[in-house]
Amino acid sequence: MRFSDRMGTIPEYVVARLNRAIAEARAGGIDVISLGIGDPDLPPDPRLRERLALEVQRDDAARYPTNHGQPALREAVADYYRRRFGVSLDPATEVLPLLGAKEGLAHLAAAILDPGSLSLIADPGYPVYAGGPLLAGAASMPLPLLPKNGFQPDLAAVPPEVAAQARLLIVGYPNNPTGAIATPGLFAELGAFADKHDLVLCHDHAYAEIVYEGDPAPSALADPTFRSHGIEILSLSKTYSIPGWRIAFAVGNPSVIAILQRLKTQIDSGMFPALQRTAAWLLGQTDVAGPPLATYRSRRDLACQQLQAIGMPVAPPAGGMYLWVPIPTNESSLVFAERLFAEAAVVVTPGNAYGAAGEGFVRIALTVPEDRLGEAIARIGAIL
Ligand SMILES: *Cc1c(COP(=O)(O)O)cnc(C)c1O
Repeated sequence: MRFSDRMGTIPEYVVARLNRAIAEARAGGIDVISLGIGDPDLPPDPRLRERLALEVQRDDAARYPTNHGQPALREAVADYYRRRFGVSLDPATEVLPLLGAKEGLAHLAAAILDPGSLSLIADPGYPVYAGGPLLAGAASMPLPLLPKNGFQPDLAAVPPEVAAQARLLIVGYPNNPTGAIATPGLFAELGAFADKHDLVLCHDHAYAEIVYEGDPAPSALADPTFRSHGIEILSLSKTYSIPGWRIAFAVGNPSVIAILQRLKTQIDSGMFPALQRTAAWLLGQTDVAGPPLATYRSRRDLACQQLQAIGMPVAPPAGGMYLWVPIPTNESSLVFAERLFAEAAVVVTPGNAYGAAGEGFVRIALTVPEDRLGEAIARIGAIL
């Protein structure tokens, strides 16, 4: 058998590799504590399941959906954007349902890039920012997010020849894995950069509602120049603790939305109608429980305190569900993570899984209860 050369360029997905190692160790009777995967552990608001159960009963729930989505769903997304972010959207041309942000990000790269073109991607960043371009036969160049810059991209450092080849630029704030929030001028700066270099911008808004102080994180579309060059991807996975439901939206520039929709008509046939109706209902409610922020905050504070006590100080993140922890030894992130797994049965994600600038860090997910988090940190302390 022969397979695509392109597949040889794509590393095994970090979560897939971690899940396999965890399953093997657990089958061998080892009590593994996984802080590796950002999968909300608390159940969603019970009304969501009730609503979905009702919607599944409808006769038309089993019929083919469309990629464009139900008008009521697109209107609900537009209403939600107005309410939460003060941004108005045309539901007909500026909203597209996605089968998760991951799907949208991968296909966006395929819709925009060709071999020889480039995507500029946040580094560290969500692994699909790099995987999407590789699947499209294109390449990506990192925009390093460094601690000294508050994990914001330094656009002035992008070489002119790289900017000239780039067609797409992807960032996301609150940022996974660093937990940083966008500085107030960032989206305007990205807009000006895209204007100059004729780029498509994408802001990944997966953690829009996971902010520890104050309002939800701002939408990039609130900046008019950003908006004229790009889209934002809003996912309901982390906000409503429903990652298994696969609900997200691309919103923004109509030309980008249209090309993504055209590509998707060849690949998927739209979102399960019962999920569309449930999502439309959900986005219209103001009292459905959002992310368990108080729980994440107290896990964050406890873990920061305990890590400090074992000699691994880490700054508490302003958003997201992770701690981005500097490695206290001179081991690489992979060697350190593998040692924690082998000697302490604790899984953390090596920082280099998010890009070269992630070297020197590991990511800890706050999606486990406090007692397990505490036990994991105690085990790490014992082998340092
Ligand atoms: C979890 C996550 C996603 C994936 O969201 P889905 O809608 O579940 O596919 C996208 N981007 C970032 C930064 C994430 O952490």
